[in-house]
Amino acid sequence: MKACVDIGGTKVAVSLVRDASGSDRPAPMAVRVAEPTVKTGAVDALARQVLALIDAACAQVGCARADITATGVSSCGPFVLVDGRIEVANPNICGGLAGAPRDIGNEWTRIPLEEPLVQALGTVRIANDAVAALVAERRWGALRGSENCAYVTWSTGVGAGLCVDGHVLRGKNGNAGHAGHSFVVDGDAAALCGCGNRGDVESMIAGGSLEGRIGTDAERLMTAATQGDVRAVRTVQQLCEVMGRMLYNLIATLDLQRISLGGSVFLHHAGLLLPQLEREVQRHFPALTQGVELCVAGLADKVGDYAALALVDKD
Ligand SMILES: [Zn+2]
Repeated sequence: MKACVDIGGTKVAVSLVRDASGSDRPAPMAVRVAEPTVKTGAVDALARQVLALIDAACAQVGCARADITATGVSSCGPFVLVDGRIEVANPNICGGLAGAPRDIGNEWTRIPLEEPLVQALGTVRIANDAVAALVAERRWGALRGSENCAYVTWSTGVGAGLCVDGHVLRGKNGNAGHAGHSFVVDGDAAALCGCGNRGDVESMIAGGSLEGRIGTDAERLMTAATQGDVRAVRTVQQLCEVMGRMLYNLIATLDLQRISLGGSVFLHHAGLLLPQLEREVQRHFPALTQGVELCVAGLADKVGDYAALALVDKD
Protein backbone atom coordinates (compact mmCIF):
# COMPACT_ATOMS: atom_id res chain seq x y z
CA MET A 1 0.00 0.00 0.00
CA LYS A 2 1.20 3.51 -0.76
CA ALA A 3 0.07 6.64 1.05
CA CYS A 4 -0.50 9.90 -0.83
CA VAL A 5 -0.58 13.06 1.29
CA ASP A 6 -1.70 16.39 -0.12
CA ILE A 7 -1.03 19.33 2.22
CA GLY A 8 -2.58 22.64 1.28
CA GLY A 9 -3.18 25.94 3.04
CA THR A 10 -6.87 25.05 3.45
CA LYS A 11 -7.08 21.25 3.61
CA VAL A 12 -5.04 18.11 4.14
CA ALA A 13 -5.98 14.96 2.22
CA VAL A 14 -4.67 11.41 2.52
CA SER A 15 -5.33 8.65 -0.01
CA LEU A 16 -4.16 5.08 -0.08
CA VAL A 17 -3.32 3.28 -3.30
CA ARG A 18 -2.76 -0.45 -3.64
CA ASP A 19 0.56 -1.13 -5.32
CA ALA A 20 0.72 1.62 -7.94
CA SER A 21 2.15 0.24 -11.12
CA GLY A 22 3.95 3.07 -12.88
CA SER A 23 1.64 2.55 -15.87
CA ASP A 24 0.24 5.18 -18.20
CA ARG A 25 -2.75 5.64 -15.93
CA PRO A 26 -2.69 6.41 -12.19
CA ALA A 27 -3.78 3.55 -9.97
CA PRO A 28 -7.25 4.07 -8.42
CA MET A 29 -7.46 5.37 -4.84
CA ALA A 30 -8.56 2.69 -2.36
CA VAL A 31 -9.69 5.35 0.14
CA ARG A 32 -9.46 9.10 0.62
CA VAL A 33 -9.90 11.16 3.80
CA ALA A 34 -9.56 14.93 4.18
CA GLU A 35 -9.80 17.61 6.86
CA PRO A 36 -9.19 21.36 7.16
CA THR A 37 -5.49 22.04 7.77
CA VAL A 38 -4.72 22.23 11.50
CA LYS A 39 -3.27 25.63 12.40
CA THR A 40 -3.38 25.66 16.20
CA GLY A 41 -1.62 23.87 19.03
CA ALA A 42 1.95 22.60 19.13
CA VAL A 43 4.24 23.26 16.20
CA ASP A 44 4.13 19.59 15.14
CA ALA A 45 0.30 19.64 14.96
CA LEU A 46 0.25 19.32 11.17
CA ALA A 47 2.57 16.30 11.13
CA ARG A 48 0.41 14.66 13.78
CA GLN A 49 -2.71 15.46 11.74
CA VAL A 50 -1.18 13.74 8.70
CA LEU A 51 -0.39 10.61 10.76
CA ALA A 52 -3.89 10.56 12.26
CA LEU A 53 -5.41 10.81 8.77
CA ILE A 54 -3.19 7.97 7.56
CA ASP A 55 -4.39 5.84 10.49
CA ALA A 56 -8.01 6.74 9.71
CA ALA A 57 -7.52 5.82 6.04
CA CYS A 58 -5.85 2.53 7.01
CA ALA A 59 -8.74 1.71 9.34
CA GLN A 60 -11.23 2.23 6.51
CA VAL A 61 -9.55 -0.35 4.27
CA GLY A 62 -8.51 -2.69 7.06
CA CYS A 63 -4.74 -2.32 6.89
CA ALA A 64 -2.08 -1.03 9.32
CA ARG A 65 0.54 1.71 9.14
CA ALA A 66 3.12 -1.08 8.78
CA ASP A 67 1.52 -2.10 5.46
CA ILE A 68 2.49 1.24 3.90
CA THR A 69 5.65 0.74 1.85
CA ALA A 70 6.15 4.36 0.75
CA THR A 71 4.54 7.73 1.39
CA GLY A 72 4.47 10.60 -1.10
CA VAL A 73 3.81 14.06 0.31
CA SER A 74 2.84 16.94 -1.95
CA SER A 75 2.99 20.02 0.27
CA CYS A 76 2.59 23.72 -0.12
CA GLY A 77 5.89 25.54 0.48
CA PRO A 78 8.28 27.16 0.78
CA PHE A 79 10.51 24.56 2.38
CA VAL A 80 13.37 25.26 4.74
CA LEU A 81 16.02 22.62 5.36
CA VAL A 82 16.85 22.12 9.05
CA ASP A 83 19.60 19.54 9.66
CA GLY A 84 18.88 18.21 6.18
CA ARG A 85 15.16 17.66 6.85
CA ILE A 86 12.31 19.57 5.23
CA GLU A 87 10.28 22.01 7.33
CA VAL A 88 7.43 24.10 5.91
CA ALA A 89 7.29 27.91 6.09
CA ASN A 90 4.01 28.55 4.30
CA PRO A 91 2.29 31.93 4.81
CA ASN A 92 -1.20 30.36 4.83
CA ILE A 93 -0.27 27.93 7.63
CA CYS A 94 2.42 29.75 9.64
CA GLY A 95 1.06 32.87 11.33
CA GLY A 96 4.44 34.07 12.63
CA LEU A 97 6.04 34.93 9.29
CA ALA A 98 7.04 38.55 8.87
CA GLY A 99 4.19 40.82 7.90
CA ALA A 100 1.42 38.22 8.06
CA PRO A 101 -1.67 40.33 7.39
CA ARG A 102 -4.24 37.99 8.89
CA ASP A 103 -4.54 36.21 12.19
CA ILE A 104 -4.10 32.51 11.45
CA GLY A 105 -4.17 31.49 15.11
CA ASN A 106 -0.51 30.64 15.65
CA GLU A 107 2.93 32.23 15.77
CA TRP A 108 4.70 29.48 13.85
CA THR A 109 7.46 30.51 11.46
CA ARG A 110 8.09 26.97 10.20
CA ILE A 111 6.76 23.54 11.02
CA PRO A 112 8.58 20.19 11.05
CA LEU A 113 7.36 17.76 8.40
CA GLU A 114 9.97 15.34 7.09
CA GLU A 115 11.50 14.32 10.44
CA PRO A 116 8.28 13.25 12.22
CA LEU A 117 6.90 11.52 9.12
CA VAL A 118 10.11 9.58 8.43
CA GLN A 119 10.24 8.55 12.11
CA ALA A 120 6.70 7.20 11.91
CA LEU A 121 6.52 5.90 8.35
CA GLY A 122 9.96 5.05 6.98
CA THR A 123 10.21 5.90 3.28
CA VAL A 124 8.77 9.38 2.72
CA ARG A 125 9.24 11.57 -0.36
CA ILE A 126 8.23 15.19 -0.03
CA ALA A 127 8.00 17.72 -2.83
CA ASN A 128 6.51 21.13 -3.30
CA ASP A 129 2.88 20.69 -4.36
CA ALA A 130 3.20 22.44 -7.70
CA VAL A 131 6.39 20.54 -8.55
CA ALA A 132 4.74 17.22 -7.65
CA ALA A 133 1.64 18.20 -9.67
CA LEU A 134 3.87 19.01 -12.63
CA VAL A 135 5.38 15.52 -12.42
CA ALA A 136 1.87 14.00 -12.27
CA GLU A 137 0.60 16.14 -15.16
CA ARG A 138 3.62 15.11 -17.26
CA ARG A 139 3.05 11.45 -16.46
CA TRP A 140 -0.74 11.18 -16.64
CA GLY A 141 -2.29 14.56 -17.44
CA ALA A 142 -2.23 17.49 -19.84
CA LEU A 143 1.57 17.82 -20.04
CA ARG A 144 2.35 14.38 -21.44
CA GLY A 145 5.12 14.62 -24.02
CA SER A 146 5.96 18.24 -23.18
CA GLU A 147 9.62 19.02 -22.47
CA ASN A 148 9.19 22.76 -21.78
CA CYS A 149 6.17 23.21 -19.60
CA ALA A 150 4.75 24.36 -16.28
CA TYR A 151 1.95 23.48 -13.91
CA VAL A 152 0.46 26.54 -12.25
CA THR A 153 -1.87 26.34 -9.27
CA TRP A 154 -4.31 29.15 -8.43
CA SER A 155 -5.74 28.13 -5.07
CA THR A 156 -5.38 29.35 -1.46
CA GLY A 157 -1.88 30.22 -2.67
CA VAL A 158 -0.33 30.56 -6.11
CA GLY A 159 2.66 28.55 -7.31
CA ALA A 160 4.30 26.82 -10.23
CA GLY A 161 6.18 23.66 -11.08
CA LEU A 162 8.63 24.11 -13.94
CA CYS A 163 10.18 21.82 -16.54
CA VAL A 164 12.82 22.99 -19.03
CA ASP A 165 14.45 20.76 -21.70
CA GLY A 166 12.79 17.78 -20.01
CA HIS A 167 14.28 18.55 -16.59
CA VAL A 168 12.00 19.28 -13.64
CA LEU A 169 13.46 22.28 -11.80
CA ARG A 170 13.83 21.93 -8.02
CA GLY A 171 16.42 24.44 -6.79
CA LYS A 172 18.54 24.55 -3.66
CA ASN A 173 15.71 23.80 -1.19
CA GLY A 174 13.10 22.39 -3.57
CA ASN A 175 11.45 25.80 -3.88
CA ALA A 176 11.86 26.42 -7.62
CA GLY A 177 8.60 27.80 -9.00
CA HIS A 178 7.50 29.99 -6.10
CA ALA A 179 6.37 32.60 -8.60
CA GLY A 180 3.43 33.44 -6.31
CA HIS A 181 5.90 35.47 -4.29
CA SER A 182 7.29 37.35 -7.30
CA PHE A 183 6.34 41.03 -7.61
CA VAL A 184 3.68 42.19 -10.04
CA VAL A 185 2.33 45.53 -8.77
CA ASP A 186 3.58 48.47 -6.76
CA GLY A 187 2.25 51.77 -5.45
CA ASP A 188 -1.13 52.16 -3.74
CA ALA A 189 -2.55 48.99 -5.31
CA ALA A 190 0.06 46.78 -3.62
CA ALA A 191 -1.34 44.47 -0.94
CA LEU A 192 0.54 42.72 1.87
CA CYS A 193 1.25 39.00 1.46
CA GLY A 194 1.55 36.60 4.39
CA CYS A 195 5.23 36.23 3.43
CA GLY A 196 5.88 39.90 4.14
CA ASN A 197 6.06 41.02 0.50
CA ARG A 198 3.90 43.90 -0.68
CA GLY A 199 2.51 43.59 -4.22
CA ASP A 200 3.42 40.00 -5.03
CA VAL A 201 1.10 37.68 -6.96
CA GLU A 202 -0.33 35.92 -3.89
CA SER A 203 -1.09 39.18 -2.14
CA MET A 204 -3.12 40.30 -5.15
CA ILE A 205 -5.00 37.23 -6.40
CA ALA A 206 -4.60 34.14 -4.18
CA GLY A 207 -7.78 32.63 -2.77
CA GLY A 208 -6.37 33.22 0.73
CA SER A 209 -5.95 36.96 0.09
CA LEU A 210 -9.16 37.96 -1.68
CA GLU A 211 -11.52 38.16 1.29
CA GLY A 212 -9.20 40.53 3.15
CA ARG A 213 -8.33 42.60 0.10
CA ILE A 214 -11.64 43.00 -1.76
CA GLY A 215 -14.18 41.85 0.83
CA THR A 216 -15.42 38.74 -0.94
CA ASP A 217 -14.10 35.24 -1.54
CA ALA A 218 -13.12 33.79 -4.88
CA GLU A 219 -16.23 31.66 -5.20
CA ARG A 220 -18.70 34.53 -4.71
CA LEU A 221 -16.67 36.86 -6.90
CA MET A 222 -16.36 34.45 -9.83
CA THR A 223 -20.02 33.44 -9.60
CA ALA A 224 -21.07 37.11 -9.71
CA ALA A 225 -18.79 37.70 -12.72
CA THR A 226 -20.24 34.68 -14.51
CA GLN A 227 -23.71 36.16 -13.94
CA GLY A 228 -22.59 39.43 -15.54
CA ASP A 229 -22.18 41.66 -12.45
CA VAL A 230 -20.22 44.57 -13.92
CA ARG A 231 -18.02 45.24 -10.89
CA ALA A 232 -17.23 41.56 -10.45
CA VAL A 233 -16.40 41.24 -14.16
CA ARG A 234 -13.95 44.15 -13.86
CA THR A 235 -12.37 42.71 -10.69
CA VAL A 236 -11.90 39.28 -12.28
CA GLN A 237 -10.34 41.00 -15.28
CA GLN A 238 -7.85 42.69 -12.93
CA LEU A 239 -7.03 39.37 -11.26
CA CYS A 240 -6.43 37.82 -14.69
CA GLU A 241 -4.14 40.71 -15.62
CA VAL A 242 -1.98 39.86 -12.59
CA MET A 243 -2.01 36.10 -13.24
CA GLY A 244 -1.45 36.74 -16.96
CA ARG A 245 1.58 38.84 -16.12
CA MET A 246 3.00 36.04 -13.97
CA LEU A 247 2.39 33.46 -16.71
CA TYR A 248 4.02 35.73 -19.28
CA ASN A 249 7.03 36.22 -17.00
CA LEU A 250 7.45 32.44 -16.69
CA ILE A 251 7.16 32.00 -20.47
CA ALA A 252 9.62 34.83 -21.13
CA THR A 253 12.12 33.49 -18.59
CA LEU A 254 11.95 29.79 -19.45
CA ASP A 255 10.70 29.66 -23.07
CA LEU A 256 7.77 27.40 -22.19
CA GLN A 257 5.53 25.64 -24.72
CA ARG A 258 2.60 24.58 -22.55
CA ILE A 259 1.16 25.51 -19.14
CA SER A 260 -1.39 23.38 -17.32
CA LEU A 261 -3.52 25.25 -14.77
CA GLY A 262 -5.19 23.88 -11.65
CA GLY A 263 -6.07 24.80 -8.07
CA SER A 264 -9.52 25.36 -6.62
CA VAL A 265 -9.90 29.02 -7.63
CA PHE A 266 -9.04 28.25 -11.24
CA LEU A 267 -10.72 24.86 -11.65
CA HIS A 268 -14.11 25.97 -10.31
CA HIS A 269 -14.24 28.75 -12.91
CA ALA A 270 -11.91 27.63 -15.70
CA GLY A 271 -14.47 28.59 -18.36
CA LEU A 272 -14.44 32.18 -17.12
CA LEU A 273 -10.70 32.47 -16.46
CA LEU A 274 -8.90 30.50 -19.17
CA PRO A 275 -9.89 32.70 -22.16
CA GLN A 276 -8.91 35.84 -20.24
CA LEU A 277 -5.54 34.38 -19.25
CA GLU A 278 -4.92 33.33 -22.87
CA ARG A 279 -5.63 36.88 -24.03
CA GLU A 280 -3.33 38.32 -21.37
CA VAL A 281 -0.47 36.05 -22.39
CA GLN A 282 -0.94 36.44 -26.13
CA ARG A 283 -1.00 40.23 -26.06
CA HIS A 284 2.62 40.30 -24.90
CA PHE A 285 5.73 39.95 -27.10
CA PRO A 286 4.64 37.45 -29.82
CA ALA A 287 8.20 36.27 -30.47
CA LEU A 288 8.06 34.66 -27.02
CA THR A 289 4.38 33.81 -26.65
CA GLN A 290 3.25 32.69 -30.11
CA GLY A 291 2.00 29.11 -30.05
CA VAL A 292 2.19 28.81 -26.26
CA GLU A 293 -0.73 26.73 -25.01
CA LEU A 294 -2.61 27.21 -21.72
CA CYS A 295 -4.87 24.36 -20.67
CA VAL A 296 -6.92 23.01 -17.78
CA ALA A 297 -5.08 20.42 -15.66
CA GLY A 298 -5.76 17.01 -17.18
CA LEU A 299 -6.02 15.46 -13.69
CA ALA A 300 -8.46 18.23 -12.68
CA ASP A 301 -9.41 18.10 -8.99
CA LYS A 302 -7.44 14.85 -8.54
CA VAL A 303 -4.18 16.59 -9.32
CA GLY A 304 -3.20 16.98 -5.63
CA ASP A 305 -3.74 13.30 -4.81
CA TYR A 306 -1.95 12.11 -7.92
CA ALA A 307 0.83 14.63 -7.35
CA ALA A 308 1.66 12.78 -4.13
CA LEU A 309 1.33 9.41 -5.87
CA ALA A 310 3.71 10.51 -8.64
CA LEU A 311 6.44 10.88 -6.00
CA VAL A 312 6.29 7.20 -4.98
CA ASP A 313 4.70 5.62 -8.06
CA LYS A 314 7.86 3.82 -9.07
CA ASP A 315 9.04 2.78 -5.59
ZN1 LIG B 1 4.18 36.46 -0.81
